[in-house]
Amino acid sequence: MSADCIFCKIVSGAIPAKKIYEDDDVIAFNDIKPMAKIHFMIVPKLHVESLKDCDVTHQALLGKMLLLVPKLAQEQGLAGFKTLINTGREGGQEVFHLHIHVFGGGLPSANT
Ligand code: AMP
Ligand code: ZN
Repeated sequence: MSADCIFCKIVSGAIPAKKIYEDDDVIAFNDIKPMAKIHFMIVPKLHVESLKDCDVTHQALLGKMLLLVPKLAQEQGLAGFKTLINTGREGGQEVFHLHIHVFGGGLPSANT
């Protein structure tokens, strides 16, 4: 838990999110600014800043997160999807708590 981290606050329930999945290790919720009709994020409950801050101790967690991608995408009705992990400021990361973006279903209705 990092006190000023927005995703830690979502994990703790301090700020709301549209959760689509939760277990002991991971939560998934819809992105507040969707870039596709379906756009959710898979987030570890453990505060890890980014993929480059992971090591072998995070291997099982990373595997679990990756295997959740097709499972949750299917539950959201997606036959196919894109995934994205922005890493570091130069990699476009804005929230410094590791997350996998999952996109599918085309552009959001607001943009079509
Ligand atoms: P990234 O650029 O990969 O760090 O992506 C951060 C993502 O978090 C952006 O797509 C934001 O729209 C999203 N985001 C930020 N705050 C929230 C929030 N409170 N609930 C849901 N998504 C959020
Ligand atoms: Zn955090």
